[in-house]
Amino acid sequence: MIQLFDTALGRVAPIEPRTPGQVSMYVCGPTVYDVPHLGHGRFSLVFDVLRRYLEWSGFEVDYVSNITDVDDNIIKRANEEGRPPDAVVAEYEAMWWNAMDRLGVKRPTHDPHATAYVAPMVELVGRLVDAGIAYETSDGVYFESEQVDGYGLLARQSIDSLRAGERVAVNDEKRSPVDFALWKKAKPGEPSWPSPWGDGRPGWHTECVVMALDLLGEGFDLHGGGQDLAFPHHENERVQAVALGRAFARHWVHNGFVEVDRVKMSKSLGNFTTLTELLDHTDARAYRLLVLQSHYRSPVEVNADTVDRAVRTLERLDEYARRVAAAGLPDAAADASVVDRFRSHMDDDLQTPAAMAVLSDTVRDVNIALDEGRPDDAAPLAAAAAEILGAVGLTVGTDDEALDPATTDLVARRDAARADHDWATADAIRAELEAGGWVVKDTPSGTQVHR
Ligand SMILES: [Zn+2]
Repeated sequence: MIQLFDTALGRVAPIEPRTPGQVSMYVCGPTVYDVPHLGHGRFSLVFDVLRRYLEWSGFEVDYVSNITDVDDNIIKRANEEGRPPDAVVAEYEAMWWNAMDRLGVKRPTHDPHATAYVAPMVELVGRLVDAGIAYETSDGVYFESEQVDGYGLLARQSIDSLRAGERVAVNDEKRSPVDFALWKKAKPGEPSWPSPWGDGRPGWHTECVVMALDLLGEGFDLHGGGQDLAFPHHENERVQAVALGRAFARHWVHNGFVEVDRVKMSKSLGNFTTLTELLDHTDARAYRLLVLQSHYRSPVEVNADTVDRAVRTLERLDEYARRVAAAGLPDAAADASVVDRFRSHMDDDLQTPAAMAVLSDTVRDVNIALDEGRPDDAAPLAAAAAEILGAVGLTVGTDDEALDPATTDLVARRDAARADHDWATADAIRAELEAGGWVVKDTPSGTQVHR
């Protein structure tokens, strides 16, 4: 069984599912008020790889990832731009799913929107108030964190150091600086829902705990997100459930940061920081490969050098896949020792860099076998490489000659537009290709597309 580093335990531990053969996981999704950034891309890829690997391992995975569609930042942006919050949400949520599709991230089994769960959120806040763990102030309802034993577990810090680390509260009605808002009373003109404490909206931490428990039930298997969410967001979700005696996530998994070297980046890729821009400038698969080549808890470095190296590796993998397809190898079961090596690295806290090394060695061995005219030796190894690629969600082996005539025409027209420096036309054709489900990349020899 797979072992993962559990933030609550502070060590690597086996994932023991609530129901044999099934894994239920909740990964905090975006607040949709801005373009997705590289950190969003990373957590989405890390948990997509984990999900795909679990599915490849035979588990049925129930994957919930929410959309936070009511929030201070959404309201702020809507006011600044003089449009309703719904319009801000619609624009940035569409951008989010577009980026996820381009990254090849599988859609969640459920993608709950916070505004669809306000009634059960009000109910949960009410129960915390009734239990004497939450209290009303002039601007909302707050959770009294220090009433829960072990508050700070996911921060791996004591309550004293957490208290000292908080900025002096602006709102002096809070009983402790670590108390957090469950309900925020609405100011005039803000989106609001009725509640026993007046019209308002739920706090972010309340949204996730309610949606996770509603869709996955008590004691669901795994809660994940970027490590910046471990505290306070995940800890504040956890203690709401604990305070009501409800079993929450069995395992807590967090991924590391993205390091962007803007100086190196600007050399050849332009100075950008958003995921959308990265996807516009390079083969989207390169980000998945970079994420796979780093351990999920380590920082991943995104700069022109690392992206270029990933693109070159993908080109070699594409070439390899075309060669294998052309070789017409005999049917063969995947080489068991290769698959076992891959599995042992993945089961060991998702050691994807080692797993990618197994892939690279296997590809090399297939190429050698083909060079030496040994198709029967190449076939089981090629089948094992295909298993690995599928398990981590990497698609390789584009065959430009197999494009349909309409796509070939679009590619040719785009290359002509680029040659004329007609970027507007080139971008429009790119959008048209992407709308047709193609991943588009610019190479020295022109536009290349693959599914
Ligand atoms: Zn969340």
